[in-house]
Amino acid sequence: MPIIVQKFGGTSVADSGKILSAARKAIRAYNEGNQVVVVVSAMGKNTDLLIDLARQIHERPPAREMDMLLATGEQVSVALMAMAIHSLGHEAISMTGGQLGIVTDSTHTKARIRSISTDRIRRALDEGKIVIAAGFQGIDASSDITTLGRGGSDTTAVALAAALGAAACEIFTDVDGVYTTDPRVLPEARRVSRISYDEMLELASAGAGVMHNRSIEFAKKFGVPVHVRSSFSDSPGTMIVAEPESRSQPVCGAAMVKNEARVSVMGVPDRPGAAMTLFSKIAAKNIAMDMIVQNVGDDGHADISFTVFRDDLPATLTAVEQAVGELGAESFNYDDEVSVISIVGSGMATQTGVANRMFHALAEAGINILMITTSPIKISVLVARAAATEALQMLHRAFGLEQQPSCRGARPQSAGAPVVNGADAMIARLQGMEDLIIEGIALDETEARATIFGIPDTPGLAARVFDQITAGGIVVDMIVQSFSREGQANLSFTFPKEDLAQAIEIAGTLAKQFGCPPPAGCPQVALLSVAGIGMRSHTEVASRMFQSLTAAGINIEMISTSEVCVSVVVDGKHGRKGLDALREEFADVIV
Ligand code: ADP
Ligand code: ASP
Ligand code: MG
Repeated sequence: MPIIVQKFGGTSVADSGKILSAARKAIRAYNEGNQVVVVVSAMGKNTDLLIDLARQIHERPPAREMDMLLATGEQVSVALMAMAIHSLGHEAISMTGGQLGIVTDSTHTKARIRSISTDRIRRALDEGKIVIAAGFQGIDASSDITTLGRGGSDTTAVALAAALGAAACEIFTDVDGVYTTDPRVLPEARRVSRISYDEMLELASAGAGVMHNRSIEFAKKFGVPVHVRSSFSDSPGTMIVAEPESRSQPVCGAAMVKNEARVSVMGVPDRPGAAMTLFSKIAAKNIAMDMIVQNVGDDGHADISFTVFRDDLPATLTAVEQAVGELGAESFNYDDEVSVISIVGSGMATQTGVANRMFHALAEAGINILMITTSPIKISVLVARAAATEALQMLHRAFGLEQQPSCRGARPQSAGAPVVNGADAMIARLQGMEDLIIEGIALDETEARATIFGIPDTPGLAARVFDQITAGGIVVDMIVQSFSREGQANLSFTFPKEDLAQAIEIAGTLAKQFGCPPPAGCPQVALLSVAGIGMRSHTEVASRMFQSLTAAGINIEMISTSEVCVSVVVDGKHGRKGLDALREEFADVIV
């Protein structure tokens, strides 16, 4: 009999009426001939209330006790949901994470699932019971209760679907699917019928809170089709699968992380390994860095800037302070009034002028771009928080996201049809279900780099640069705009190396107009990329990359991080050596 996993989020089980209505959905799936596992979150805002309560007692509660506390939220819901199903005349059994057989590592409040032993669940299902699973929790090797991080019930649901080889994983929530951006922020947002794993991964980590990003790592890794739909209606929802909705449309969605903080370390000695010391200290605290840019000065010193969630700022600053001391860097500063806005789409990998359109839309609204980073299917900009919502709105409009795209180029895929594919083989190959997987390490030696130094900090200049560059027929690949030190930023970009002379000429003219010194060009750079699943949530990937390149004596000129790939630009003469170093470094996790 096929197994169906259904997950109900907090709003969907917020009161007894909603619990009963969710119970009816589960019974309907059962009566349609399925074995049913229901994953539930804590009721309504219970997790928030528990966190508040803990903070009233202790400023920084011990993480183990925090997990003990937070897990109770889900325990309440599973018991009530099982009672609801009983009251409607069906058999059900509730289980906590430990009873479900979900074993995690011991990183309290951010634990990763290592394994799921499904024997007990299967026995209960075979006895005709509906299994009610507590989301967001597990136990570690010492039987201590752990939680998976905020929003983690999605991850429980997709992981259970993978481990059970479920026919479908339905995420019931308070919206009727995945939208082009948060519909609560922009009412004109459009529901997408389908979105690819990679796009959803990027959007989720760029702030689209509808899905926990790690749940999509599971879905992609184990081939679980995820159906996001409304708890309160029968509308069709959104399928998260391998193929995007459209390949002809460059952008499928936009998202913002409103509460970010920028941290800049100034005057870092410009030698291999400096960035690594800094990043490894932050990674060791399990803090994911978002945008990372560095600005190589001509005085033998570099400025490094990056962004983190604002909540992670205190811990980040502790790590930065240590690193500054060790490195002998000049100083550091931060701004906790910034937001990151990203646009995402599989189509942008093959289309030109997407970044340009983004910068234009922001320029027209007079919004200043503080930093820029790009990756294969995502472009992010850092803006002042006060301008963030307007920036999101401008970008949504500029890319016509409210309109239905043509489906040219995307293969049709029917909702709910495929069964989880290949999960067993993948589970058998991994030590832990959430282990890092590297799918490929690549070297691209076809590009050159140009850098314009000291661009004034005024809205619209990035748009002017890329207008001219695009008008010259030059296809830009990676773009990085560093944080400006004294109101001035450096803008670096890569492009096919045969276009070097023309790019430098255009950049030179612009530099003169902006009152900047002459631009620099590197006739051949090596672009080294490590692609895989969970590249950002596994915070050690970037630092391992930097470490191995450093050990090989290679200096990093540009950095780009995303969920699907971390890339660096290094001097062209170091390409092969860099590739070998990375292959050796990741030999244990490459598939
Ligand atoms: P649940 O409690 O069911 O897990 P969440 O609050 O975690 O629900 O996620 C649903 C919410 O995610 C929606 O109410 C919506 O405001 C928000 N959201 C953010 N980005 C998006 C998006 N791109 N599409 C749909 N919803 C989004
Ligand atoms: N209850 C947890 C939270 O609020 C987990 C979840 O809802 O997914 O974060
Ligand atoms: Mg959620």
